[in-house]
This record gives sequence, C-alpha cells and structure tokens, in this order.
Amino acid sequence: MRLLVVHTAEGARTAQSLGDFFARTDVEASSHVGIDANSVEQYVPYDRASWTVLSANPISENVELCGFAHWSREQWLSTGMVDGCANPRAMLDRLAGWLAERVQARGIEIKKLSPHQVAAGDWGICGHVDWTVGTGDGTHTDPGPAFPWDYVITRANQLAHGNKEDDVSWNDQLPNPNYRKDTPGTGQPTYAAGDWLVYNNVKTDQVSAKLDALTEKVNAPAPVQITPEQLAAALGPMLPAIATAVADELHQRTAA
Ligand SMILES: [Zn+2]
Repeated sequence: MRLLVVHTAEGARTAQSLGDFFARTDVEASSHVGIDANSVEQYVPYDRASWTVLSANPISENVELCGFAHWSREQWLSTGMVDGCANPRAMLDRLAGWLAERVQARGIEIKKLSPHQVAAGDWGICGHVDWTVGTGDGTHTDPGPAFPWDYVITRANQLAHGNKEDDVSWNDQLPNPNYRKDTPGTGQPTYAAGDWLVYNNVKTDQVSAKLDALTEKVNAPAPVQITPEQLAAALGPMLPAIATAVADELHQRTAA
C-alpha cells in the first residue's frame, strides 16, 4: 500500500448515495471511502482492495469525492451549492482530514506525486489521472485539471501537524533566527506576530482562529513580550503581506 488515490464520483451528490450505488450487485466498482461536505463514509475495509484503479487496486487506498472533474478551481473552493453538491470546500477539508489520518496509518508522507513519481513506485498522494498518465493503465482523468491540490495538501499538513501548537512551546515553533528579535535591555526574545503567521504558513482565512490561539498564549504566563493589543495592531497592516507570502510559498511548492 503506497498510494492514496483521489477520485471524483461524477454523479453522486452525497457519500451515502454513492455507497448505495456501490452496494448494487450490478455495479463492479467500489472505493474505500466516499466524502461529501458532511461525512466520510467507509464502504470497503482498508485491509481489502477496492475496485477503482485497475492494476493499482492492491497498492492503493481510494477516496471518492462527491464532485466533478470538470469543476473550476473556484467551484472546488466554493462554500455554496455546485452542480447539486453542497459546500465543496468543506468536502476538501474532510478529504484533508482523511489524508492526514491515512498517511499516518500507512507510513506515507503528505506528498502529491507527479505521474512520473507514481509510475516510478514512489509513495504518496495522487489523483486517478496521475496513475492513468504515469502508467498508461486506464483512461480516467479525475479529479480533474483544476482540482486544488495546493489547498488540500496544505490543509492535510496543517491537520497532521495540528497538535504541534499545543505541545510545543512558543519558542520551539520559531527556530528561524530571522524571526527572533531580542527585546532591548531584557534579553528576552520577542517575535512579530506577522512573522509568526508567515513562518507557520497560516492561510489568511484561518488568521482569526490562529489569532485566538495566539491571544491565549499571550495571556498565559510565558516569556512572550507582546500584548493582545500589540498583536492586533501589528496584524492589521500585515495581512496583505502575509497573503502574498503564503501565496508565493504555495506557488513554489506546487511548481516544484
Ligand atoms: Zn477515478
């Protein structure tokens, strides 16, 4: 088992209806799980092969999204109704959670594979299309050319490493000395809130949650020389810079 393969169901609007479809005796197809905005449904136990990617079946775990390969990036990231499918972005968040869980269970890295890497036998995450193009086996091209891998991989990483914030000290999260500035006269390290957010690759739409967590840390008895007021004042003008830095970083990662 070396691949987590992402598919689109191309019709089913809910994970439950997809499960009903797979359960039909005339349907020679299955997947380990199906995901919609509200649930992750398991159809096939992980110790058995599912029937989704031809010769990759014995080496893959497969997840079907209740979406369509023709969707644009905007549609994938929409929180509205798209082609009868509710909140695709919430579905992607559930997918990221599933990936974060399964990489741990299987000892796989959170890494999106290219078709070449899939064919070369690398371990990681891919779309059905990457198998098709890499190996020449089959014709399916899901989950589609506009599928937002950058969003999904970033979210999976955040979820996989989410505990870090709770059990690693504030200072340990800032190993890069560029982000450290000693407070004059005290020898105590301080950090600019914006730098912290950039360093931790915080997406702008999650800034408020992070800000809550930061405020909690600031209020806790810890050697951090910054008040919630200073933090809020520092954050406002920095948001555009944070957004740019994160976008550049994501662009570099997906281009790599
Ligand atoms: Zn597929």
